[in-house]
Amino acid sequence: MSVRVRFAPSPTGQVHIGNIRAAIFNWLYARHTGGAFLLRVEDTDRERSTPEAIRTLLEVMAWLGMASDEPPVYQSARTARHLEVAAAMVAAGTAYRENRDGKGECIVCRMPKTGRVEFTDAVKGRIRKQAEDTQDFIIVRSDGTPVFHLANVVDDHDMRITHVIRGDDHVENTFKHLQIFRAMGVEPPVYAHLPMIVNHMGKPYSKRDGAAFVGDFQAQGFLPEALFNFLALLGWAPGDDREILSRDEMVAAFDLDRCKSSAARFDLKKLVWMNGEYLRRLPRETINAAFRDRLAAGGLDPSTVADGTWNAILDLMIPRTKIFSEVPGNCAFFFTETYAFDPKAVEKRLKPAGALDLLQRLAEVFESLPAFTAESTEQALRATGEAQNIGIGALVHPVRVAVSGSGEGPGLFEMLALLGRERVCARLRGAERALSSCA
Ligand code: GLU
Repeated sequence: MSVRVRFAPSPTGQVHIGNIRAAIFNWLYARHTGGAFLLRVEDTDRERSTPEAIRTLLEVMAWLGMASDEPPVYQSARTARHLEVAAAMVAAGTAYRENRDGKGECIVCRMPKTGRVEFTDAVKGRIRKQAEDTQDFIIVRSDGTPVFHLANVVDDHDMRITHVIRGDDHVENTFKHLQIFRAMGVEPPVYAHLPMIVNHMGKPYSKRDGAAFVGDFQAQGFLPEALFNFLALLGWAPGDDREILSRDEMVAAFDLDRCKSSAARFDLKKLVWMNGEYLRRLPRETINAAFRDRLAAGGLDPSTVADGTWNAILDLMIPRTKIFSEVPGNCAFFFTETYAFDPKAVEKRLKPAGALDLLQRLAEVFESLPAFTAESTEQALRATGEAQNIGIGALVHPVRVAVSGSGEGPGLFEMLALLGRERVCARLRGAERALSSCA
């Protein structure tokens, strides 16, 4: 029997990374097994499941390179079928009518009263509980609307789903879902519950921990392939120490028995690192365009530098760029005289007595150099340090802060050569503006 899996989100306007992680695992499993990946929109909450929310969902999936192999199923269109199953359950005695909320009759599914209820989860193994710890539960409300449990099971059955891969917040529900399958007299799918995504404290990862929606990561400039790879490793590993895997490699290595049951820690640093790895694999033209776009969006004009300089700036900055959104901040000083100063770096490197005088002195030395290159500026700086009887660090750091605004960045002397003598000397001489800008 060929595998049929589904992603069954309830659209709410934003797509949480936990949900899309479930989509990714389903997609990988479908591609790995040569099966079908389907989308079922659980849009029974009419207030939240707006057309915009559904559009956002589809956009996020497309951005991550996942599409349903069949037309999406909209749960809200299937109410009559859900109610038909509920009525059949009442007729068979597996469910009954009862006025539970004082507002009218609900339909309630019976749970077993003795023994144990149990199932084998493809990720978590055997899961069981005593029947006496379960309770009969409503499947149709008194207003005639089907409850999630009923709709979810009936749709999984009708869509001929073979494996339900979803977050482990649904483990408890699965006892109920299996009971409805039993009542329908059909084989249930295999259930596979993915471990919870947790923060550094081991608590469920939420909005309070930082970006939690796919759209946030997209807006911050993360690449879809990097986010996909990162999320695929939240609860799964290929069985060796590979962390950067192409789509095809993931598809080949993915299997449910390699999914982990222990909580998956969301590590933003790792995502940022991974994004840098993906960024550097992009074609140079794509990187070039992204740098230009980001600079322009940051109010900077890349055409102020010559082509050769532009390429050299890219060579210098690409290895240091983990995400395109860093570009305007990290590269501003190449394109404007009004780059920002990091107050901490200014405090540490330019505030100390004598720092500005040293920069003046160095500006004079730089002005007298026959050629202004990475080599000549390095030599001149070393010689000045020696002449002043100070360590090279006492010059390197203040120079860096004065010409770039930051205590970190690419190799100082390459940077100086690219900026050119005129700009470097003007910045060294005008370094006191850093003190006033951070006052
Ligand atoms: N709509 C449910 C959710 O988003 C579906 C869970 C499932 O995959 O069965 O949590």
